[in-house]
Amino acid sequence: MGPYRAELLKKELGIFTFNDLLDLFPYRHLDRTKVNLIREITPDTEYIQVAGRITSVEVLGEGRSRRMVAELRDSSGVLELVWFQGISGMQKLLQAGSDYLVFGRTGFFQGNPQITHAEVELYEKEKPGGQAFLEPIYPATEKLKSKGMGGRQLGKFTLVLLGLLKEKDLPENLPDPVLIYPDPATGQSRKFLSRYEAYQQIHFPTHPDLFRQAVFRLKFEEFFIAQLRLGLIKSRRHRSSRGVVFAQVGKLFNQFYTQYLPFELTGAQKRVLKEIRRDTGSGRQMNRLLQGDVGSGKTIVALLAMLLAIDNGFQACLMAPTEILARQHYEGISRLLKEMPLEVRLLTGSSKSKQRKEVLAAAADGSLHILIGTHALLEESVKFHQLGLAIVDEQHRFGVAQRARLWEKAVIPPHVLVMTATPIPRTLAMTAYGDLDYSIMDELPPGRQPIATVHRFEDRRPQVMDFIRHEVAKGRQAYIIFPLIEESETMDYEYLERGYENLKAWFPEPKYWISRVDGRQKQAERDTNMQRFVTKDTQIMVATTVIEVGVNVPNATVMVIESAEKFGLSQLHQLRGRVGRGQEKSFCILLTSPRLNKEARDRLNTLCATNDGFKIAEKDLEIRGPGDIGGTRQSGMLNFKLANIVQDRDLLELAREMAERVLEKDPDLTMEENRGLKSFLQGQHGKTQWSKIS
Ligand code: ADP
Ligand code: MG
Repeated sequence: MGPYRAELLKKELGIFTFNDLLDLFPYRHLDRTKVNLIREITPDTEYIQVAGRITSVEVLGEGRSRRMVAELRDSSGVLELVWFQGISGMQKLLQAGSDYLVFGRTGFFQGNPQITHAEVELYEKEKPGGQAFLEPIYPATEKLKSKGMGGRQLGKFTLVLLGLLKEKDLPENLPDPVLIYPDPATGQSRKFLSRYEAYQQIHFPTHPDLFRQAVFRLKFEEFFIAQLRLGLIKSRRHRSSRGVVFAQVGKLFNQFYTQYLPFELTGAQKRVLKEIRRDTGSGRQMNRLLQGDVGSGKTIVALLAMLLAIDNGFQACLMAPTEILARQHYEGISRLLKEMPLEVRLLTGSSKSKQRKEVLAAAADGSLHILIGTHALLEESVKFHQLGLAIVDEQHRFGVAQRARLWEKAVIPPHVLVMTATPIPRTLAMTAYGDLDYSIMDELPPGRQPIATVHRFEDRRPQVMDFIRHEVAKGRQAYIIFPLIEESETMDYEYLERGYENLKAWFPEPKYWISRVDGRQKQAERDTNMQRFVTKDTQIMVATTVIEVGVNVPNATVMVIESAEKFGLSQLHQLRGRVGRGQEKSFCILLTSPRLNKEARDRLNTLCATNDGFKIAEKDLEIRGPGDIGGTRQSGMLNFKLANIVQDRDLLELAREMAERVLEKDPDLTMEENRGLKSFLQGQHGKTQWSKIS
């Protein structure tokens, strides 16, 4: 290929090397021996190959609407071919009166079949039906197509390349023990196709079964290599990081545990505490992600971990994403520690300067034990005497870079525990967070009743309001949430305004009082309104999603979500998690307009069907795909070419197991059997590397 076309491939598809070209996989195969008739094109036809004579070629229009239009006739009909780009090249290639083989995506224009930017070549009756069983079609860009380098031509390059390659050019990278795998269907041992054969077959399959095996092998390879990398990063970090040691469980922890712990810990809470103790006692730095469902009781785990730090002579901090949450943590934790000889302080953006000075001094001289706050904790002026543990609540609100600043607050970096707001599906955790240590809390405290969730159309609002009255009469409280999306902010506020006015009509003072909390209010106003709801001075809380995370008002039993179709699944689950926190039966009502698309219906049905955050997270991943959901982590690690963490989850599990097995036996990949693997890893460039949560 000459320099001009090589340049195009670089620019358009990022193909620089032979390997890049081999890794451009076909998105479909076409039986190239098959030539259809123009008459067979229907509105459902996607791609088609036809052959016929060009009967006319004209260039029409000026400027942007300049286009070349050609007419192709076969024995059955006429097909229009249109180009907007690459016209001069096409003019040279297309001669009226000659026969062409034409391939492309069909469409209809004013009732007539048409192909825009078709791929064309001179038709030689003898040529089709070569040795290839199926012809690969590659994803090409409009630009490439217009330069005669469409999805078909790319296949020709690949075919030439594959013909040049010997087995040694595509050496096996999987170690022998990994090449044998248990067949998922039968459990019997099978052998993966060799790497060389897999590449031949995925591009130019000689049999459908071999094609499937090739795809299977290459998908496995992708997962396996990724899992191996993550495993290597993790084990290196474990061996090299240095952390302060929490050697003992001391007086404070024990005193709190025996005298003030308000409930028995769940099994999951105990297990996570054990994991934290093991990490913090090991001499290496803890970097742990704690995943727990809404309401699984992460706060108390955080508190106990902080006591552990203090028992060992260190300070601890807890960072929350919003002022309301930070305050709530501060109040809750202060209450729990009321009888203990401990200094707990709060620092947020709205702390008064005198108070702020005091807090900073206490943090710096070590008289403060626990500091709770918002982003304000990250500011340079916040210095600790000896910070041993930093906890970040509801992590998805913080960026990675922000959290990294926590590290600089001590000579030896403090242990870090990040608590997620909602569970992450296992497959995603394995890929996006596979290099981290993570704990899972998949158990709710006992006695919780599942929240009854229903979906209602807006015309049922009167009944919903009656229901709220009914609950309020029993002494309970209700949330009514309005959507607030950046793109439609102005309209959303109008909608909230109207909703609020309507509610005041349904729930008139002085019998009822309503709190309103939204992002446009001043902090103080928001806090007052929130506080009135917490103290039961108001029965109803109208809010935007500012209350989404963390807020804990156990007496609230009704959650109404307006325009629920506008929310994502995990957000809905978070919102619903604001009720069902006490002993009373709680309800969540999803109000929507009657017109819903399939995805919205899927979301709402999922939410009505289950209260399990882990199941919801799986479903969310299925509906949205991995691209959108990586939390704070960029999804660079999820960019698999062939494999898909949703559809190929079994294969991912297999790859992980195999990678673990390899690393267990040979953590630095120095054994002979892993030589091919090691040199393959060294040959891969430019892969994103992650190793820490913060
Ligand atoms: P989240 O994991 O969503 O942050 P919280 O820590 O706010 O959950 O806990 C939710 C509620 O459950 C709180 O009212 C808390 O006091 C209570 N709770 C936590 N652990 C237990 C337990 N083991 N038994 C009973 N109640 C618990
Ligand atoms: Mg919480």
